[in-house]
Amino acid sequence: MTPRESENPRRGCLYLVATPIGNLEDISLRALRILKEADLIACEDTRQTLKLLSHFEIRKPLESYHEHNEMTRAPELIVRMEEGARVALVSDAGTPVISDPGHRLVSLCLRHKVVVIPIPGPSAIVAALAACGLPSEEFTFLGFLPARSTERRRRLQLLASEPRSLVLYEAPHRLCATLRDALDILGDRPAAIARELTKIHEEFLRGRITDLVRAFEEKEPRGEMTLIIGPPDETALAESGRAGAQARTLAERVAEIMSRQEVDQKAALKRAAKEFGLAKREAYKRLLTEENS
Ligand code: SAM
Repeated sequence: MTPRESENPRRGCLYLVATPIGNLEDISLRALRILKEADLIACEDTRQTLKLLSHFEIRKPLESYHEHNEMTRAPELIVRMEEGARVALVSDAGTPVISDPGHRLVSLCLRHKVVVIPIPGPSAIVAALAACGLPSEEFTFLGFLPARSTERRRRLQLLASEPRSLVLYEAPHRLCATLRDALDILGDRPAAIARELTKIHEEFLRGRITDLVRAFEEKEPRGEMTLIIGPPDETALAESGRAGAQARTLAERVAEIMSRQEVDQKAALKRAAKEFGLAKREAYKRLLTEENS
């Protein structure tokens, strides 16, 4: 097939070039050609992209384009493209724009009638979903859930009746908290973690959410993780039904967390206090009052 982008090489345009999420062999021939032909590569972290380019012996002018400079950088790049520059946008890994910078630039290109050309390739969502074994005909991609538990739980509440598999990105240090919140709100659904995809220590953990919680209680989560939560089945529906009906008082909630997550009262109270928006001392006082009444 004639490569579309070579038909009119002098026209400025934006290429969204997917790059490997670990294994450098995953870069496509087309991605390499575009990176070689581009006038400029806009990248999230120049050091990261330099490593990739030097591996493939590509030398190109680089410009940083990340969440902190995109307000000013996007209009500058538009001017360059309107003058005829072919700009390739890459992120640190995977497909740009997908939980990565680039949306603002794409929108601005479209507003300025600059052509946007995707160069497809690796993305953690697709690799994780394809191999996890959970239903994949339809799915809902959540990107990263909010870092704060209250907001994260609120977001999960909105998804409680979602019938499709859920795919999430998560940082290792927040994984356990997210799994616990998911267990609490969605019930004990089938789930999987795709860890370090395409790298030497690639690993899939499959089971129910409780199995994953247990696995990471024994071994601290490390590396890059994509979490897939399957649609609710009978077990999960019963669990989340109970979760919805229960816990009107702080004491009830503490007891529920202790039984469902196998943690001690202190840890359960800490979590419950957060959910109820109470300071630790205040929560402890309320718990005593409720237990004595
Ligand atoms: N744009 C990227 C893509 O298309 O995959 C995603 C970028 S997002 C900032 C980074 C997150 O993607 C990580 O925190 C992790 O959740 C997931 N991820 C990236 N590489 C991964 C890998 N090799 N294995 C598992 N998950 C990965």
